[in-house]
Amino acid sequence: MAQNPVSPTSARSTNYSAAAARQAILERLTPVGGWERVNVRSALGRVLAEDVIAPCNVPAHDNSAMDGYAVRHADLAPQGESTLTIVGTAFAGKPFSGIVGAGQAVRIMTGAPIPEGADSIVVQEVTRAAEGKVHVPAGQRAGQNLRRAGEDLALGGVALPAGKRCGPAELGLIASLGIAEVAVRRRLRVAFFSTGDELASIGKPLAPGEVYDSNRYTLFGALSRLGCDLIDMGVVRDDPQALETAFRDASANADVILTSGGVSVGEADFIRELVNRLGEVAFWKIDIKPGRPMAFGRVGDAWLFGLPGNPVAVLVTFYQFVQDALQALSGVSPLPEPALFDVVCAETIRKQPGRREFMRGRLALVDGRQTVRLAGAQGSGVLRSMSEANCFIVLPEERGDVLAGETVQVQIFDGLV
Ligand code: AMP
Ligand code: MG
Repeated sequence: MAQNPVSPTSARSTNYSAAAARQAILERLTPVGGWERVNVRSALGRVLAEDVIAPCNVPAHDNSAMDGYAVRHADLAPQGESTLTIVGTAFAGKPFSGIVGAGQAVRIMTGAPIPEGADSIVVQEVTRAAEGKVHVPAGQRAGQNLRRAGEDLALGGVALPAGKRCGPAELGLIASLGIAEVAVRRRLRVAFFSTGDELASIGKPLAPGEVYDSNRYTLFGALSRLGCDLIDMGVVRDDPQALETAFRDASANADVILTSGGVSVGEADFIRELVNRLGEVAFWKIDIKPGRPMAFGRVGDAWLFGLPGNPVAVLVTFYQFVQDALQALSGVSPLPEPALFDVVCAETIRKQPGRREFMRGRLALVDGRQTVRLAGAQGSGVLRSMSEANCFIVLPEERGDVLAGETVQVQIFDGLV
């Protein structure tokens, strides 16, 4: 910990750009230890702990990429039609066992091994077959329409590198090698709680001045999707003793502690003093909107992310800073760069230069062009805008007002993974 201080200066709070905050977090994190062997299905969403080395070639044999005829290219005349004798058929599961001799062809299905003697596949559509003969037009290339053994994955090569998170393609790829089990890193343990005297639990009537604790459900959703082991610690009152107990508990049981609320100017001192006794914490003013205050540090052996209380700010800070931090701690390597896309903005957006703003947007195809509009009211407490949005409209620090028709960048909420 000494070599990884979280407070780069002695200033009580430090102003960061979003990029600098992200970097300052990521450069401090190293993956947690521990791994286990799991079957292929259970590897979904898990991070590979070691390279997967191909124990065989994929495909295993040279095979046909098309339905057609396996031929010897040397038999084909450069001009006009060539006529070959059909000597058998090769199916994907039932290879042709003979040899293709001079002037001969074998009818072949996609995926069937290339019969001995043949070197090229002529697609069925260009041929005519009758009475045991096939007529092949000129213009065929030697070696055409073949899939070579090992062209997808070569025996002994790295099929998947350590640090890869397994999605559907990886499960299929592992299975295509005939591998039944892989080594994956252990799941990250994340303890999370909400702070605030005003918070009420769901399922009960609200007393005057109370709000339902929604952040814990938002975080439950975001963390579950990342495949973390969760420790839901409920609501903790704005009370030093209760907070200390919660932080001690959390740090004893988790790799990461996530809290919401209590990091704004009025409340931060309270948590700062406490956490600095148990570890080390920095309160950062990040030049973003929403989500300007955020705490980052360590409590005992656990990393702490103190997110703001406002429901939209929780998600913005989670996606911009916490998600990749959790990926890094889980061993994901390399981390994917945040993907931003240029699209046309259909409406005017007011913005003061200074902060990087993450507005909630709705991306849609309008007259054949991807076009974005604001998704409802943009207050940092308006969670509905997050639900109606399908992207963040990301407006960089220096940008002022956006006029209708100008280009903006968006970060899409969901993709193919
Ligand atoms: P704070 O950062 O604690 O000052 O909270 C900022 C705003 O977010 C206040 O309006 C809080 O009532 C609200 N808030 C804080 N925590 C939660 C929560 N868990 N669920 C919903 N709203 C919250
Ligand atoms: Mg509060």
